[in-house]
Amino acid sequence: RVRIPVAELLLENLTKQWGDFVGVDQMKLSVADREFLVLLGPSGCGKTTTMRMIAGLEEPTSGSIFFDGKRMNGLGPQKRDIAMVFQSYALYPNMTVYENIRFPLRMHRIEKRLHDEKVREAARLVELDNLLDRRPSALSGGQRQRVALARAIVRKPSVFLMDEPLSNLDAKLRVSTRAHIKNLCHELEVTTVYVTHDQIEAMTLADRVVIMQDGVIQQIGTPKEIYENPANTFVAGFIGNPAMNLLRGEIRSGTFTASRTEVSGLAMDDGSLTLGFRAEDAQISAEAGQLNAPIYSIELLGDCSMVTVRIDGSLIAVKADKAFKGEIGDEVGIKIAPNHYHFFDGNSGVRIDVSHPD
Ligand code: ATP
Repeated sequence: RVRIPVAELLLENLTKQWGDFVGVDQMKLSVADREFLVLLGPSGCGKTTTMRMIAGLEEPTSGSIFFDGKRMNGLGPQKRDIAMVFQSYALYPNMTVYENIRFPLRMHRIEKRLHDEKVREAARLVELDNLLDRRPSALSGGQRQRVALARAIVRKPSVFLMDEPLSNLDAKLRVSTRAHIKNLCHELEVTTVYVTHDQIEAMTLADRVVIMQDGVIQQIGTPKEIYENPANTFVAGFIGNPAMNLLRGEIRSGTFTASRTEVSGLAMDDGSLTLGFRAEDAQISAEAGQLNAPIYSIELLGDCSMVTVRIDGSLIAVKADKAFKGEIGDEVGIKIAPNHYHFFDGNSGVRIDVSHPD
């Protein structure tokens, strides 16, 4: 197998502005050769705009884009060694699968004698070998998306850009196509930037995740780092299913108090604080706990039950045994596992790291 040339990607203070509105703000990011990087964030946070600037479809207002140290600003998409896959497959309806996959080879004037082998190799990688004579109209959504993938990889680009490629697929197909993409990028050893608003996609696919909000990077890290050490309340409240439970309150002499909540023995300075904990890091029972409230809902998830209580309009979720007995309205107590607290500044929302005694 031929290795694609090294492809490092560097964004330096990349900014996109329309009038007064800043879509992407001073983005700094480096993507390593062969890394699978996911841009994750809610709708409108600037993911697609960032991707379009990397692709050369959108000119930055300021800042630079480098591929392997070479500045790309001002170069069109054809001049950047990239391939793109979008949410809409954009296949040519009058061409067969074979011709659709072959199209980039013709566009880039690749020697004709090489076409057949390259098309068949790309089709094989996405398991379309048997469908090469069909037209797109005779394919399922998942198969069409695989044609789009094959067409993107046929030329072996050095950077692969994908923008929500799974969002038109149903839930089951998403899971299998996700596995396909992961395997494909591994096989191809290609540097990939992948845009999604779906945190499960991000966490399962990424080497590193970049979380954005309002055009600003909130955190860059491996899925594990982001899950275990969210940089602020935005990331904590975005990542995880359910997201982290967050309680706003006050700390005085080592005791944190919030509505229906008292947690003591914390080595923290006085002030306003947001306390966070994950659903799996707490226990729920009929005994009094650090949080005390009536049950709001119970959902059996198969291997466990998700029990939710409501405090001042916020839902707090705790994972309980699947045999958990309780009814909506029952008073319960929640105890957070020692050393599984997360603390965030009450004003800025920024994480406060404390070293736990072992
Ligand atoms: P989604 O997941 O909904 O696609 P996104 O994170 O990809 O969202 P972008 O498409 O990058 O978001 O858009 C970022 C912001 O920039 C949005 O608020 C959008 O309305 C704005 N925006 C995008 N294109 C333009 C434009 N041509 N003119 C003005 N504002 C724009």
